[in-house]
Amino acid sequence: MKIIASLSNVLDSNVEVVYVPVFEEFPKYASKELPEKVVAKIKEAMNDKKFEGKLKQCYSVYWSDKKTFIAMGVGKKEDYNSDKLRQVCSSATRCAVNKKVKSYAFFLDGNLVDVNLEKAVQSFSESTLLSLYKFNVLKTKDKNNENLKEIVILLEHKKLEVASKAIKESQEVVESISRMRDLVNLPPNIVNPSYIVNEAKKVAKKYKLKCTVLGRKEIEKNNLNLLKAVSLGSDEEPALVVLEYNGAKNKKPVVLVGKGITYDSGGLNIKPYIGRGPAMRNMKTDMAGSALMFATIEAAARLRLDCNVVAVLALSENMINGRAYKCDDVVKSHAGLTVEITNTDAEGRLVLADALSYSKKFSPSYIINAATLTGASMLAVGYMGACLMGNDKELLEKLQISASCTGERLWELPLWEEYNELLDSSVADLKNSHEAAGPGTVVAGMFLQNFVEGMKWAHLDIASVSTTEKDRHFTKSGSTGFGVRLLVDFLKKQ
Ligand SMILES: [Zn+2]
Repeated sequence: MKIIASLSNVLDSNVEVVYVPVFEEFPKYASKELPEKVVAKIKEAMNDKKFEGKLKQCYSVYWSDKKTFIAMGVGKKEDYNSDKLRQVCSSATRCAVNKKVKSYAFFLDGNLVDVNLEKAVQSFSESTLLSLYKFNVLKTKDKNNENLKEIVILLEHKKLEVASKAIKESQEVVESISRMRDLVNLPPNIVNPSYIVNEAKKVAKKYKLKCTVLGRKEIEKNNLNLLKAVSLGSDEEPALVVLEYNGAKNKKPVVLVGKGITYDSGGLNIKPYIGRGPAMRNMKTDMAGSALMFATIEAAARLRLDCNVVAVLALSENMINGRAYKCDDVVKSHAGLTVEITNTDAEGRLVLADALSYSKKFSPSYIINAATLTGASMLAVGYMGACLMGNDKELLEKLQISASCTGERLWELPLWEEYNELLDSSVADLKNSHEAAGPGTVVAGMFLQNFVEGMKWAHLDIASVSTTEKDRHFTKSGSTGFGVRLLVDFLKKQ
């Protein structure tokens, strides 16, 4: 499947279906390039109240045996933004796939260009390609292969080169997002720490990244004792993977740290099978933070971004055997702080804590971690965005700018110092979990903050958005790939 930009006329384009975006105020805000005949048909439908131009509403106008026009509602002009464009594009793609169309065109009317043409084309191609993602590698039948071969963006602006470049870049980013989605969607009997280690080595070779892998012995030698503690209950060897991309001279790197629990049984605080709490199902996705950082550094390398990036992936299973770590254990972290274990299911913050303090050696300009850390983040923001915390105002603001540019929303939660009392331990410097009901997402953030001394740090709790049960916009059930576009946008601005 390919996406191309074209300057051909709406009537002349050699495709089966042409989508024509229509605002509710039509014919106001309609392009002058739209052929009279098409305008007349849309007006007729609107007069007959068959079509109102509401967001994602479709109305088909049959033109000939070979071509259908579909008026695609984009809502009110004053409400329009690039996020609406993404929703419209993914609806168009879904609709074309359902109709088993081989090719379609989308008229990118100048009124749909929100910031600039490059951004609009980027929004178009990213959401279109993301909508086409399928996870069927494990199916042996009913693979449901795509008919769609070609998508054409019909430009009103005559900037073909700008558009083609934006398409190419989007394709690179979406390739990386698909890697993340595959890693998260694949089952835990395939994706374990050593699987991710091998993938990291392959990607490092392909894009000339430096790759360092710390296995069990090196983890012990480097006093990454919290990561080690979490891994004790599993037969799979844990790993700390460090990928380094050097795209700029004399710039401090942005360090991206990911939680990579390839399966989280909860440990001795075992998860229930069902229920409102953190259930056992889908705990293969507890490595989404690592998958996100892995995909982001790969995308940075594909796009040859003018910055330096280090990705640190803390990989382990959280399982149970006779050696598994227990409640009441006290473990000395890499940073030197002692941690009392009060819940073995609060393992993500433990592996992250060691990975964060270990990362200090890279002298980061900024350090950002991502993790499916708390079920409570779902209570805070639902599946509409991720929770953001951190210790540096400027970094948080920069991330919010990228969030609004990409539509990958972040909501900041406070790290008021008084929350620290929730992590007081009577036997160690701090405990890993606050047992009573409370602000679970914030408590996890407070815990991590103890391990980032001297670094400008942000924490993304992506538990609410990393997967979805139902199809939503351009994300299908399973991994959403959340965060790659956000972090790539952030890195571009470094
Ligand atoms: Zn857990």
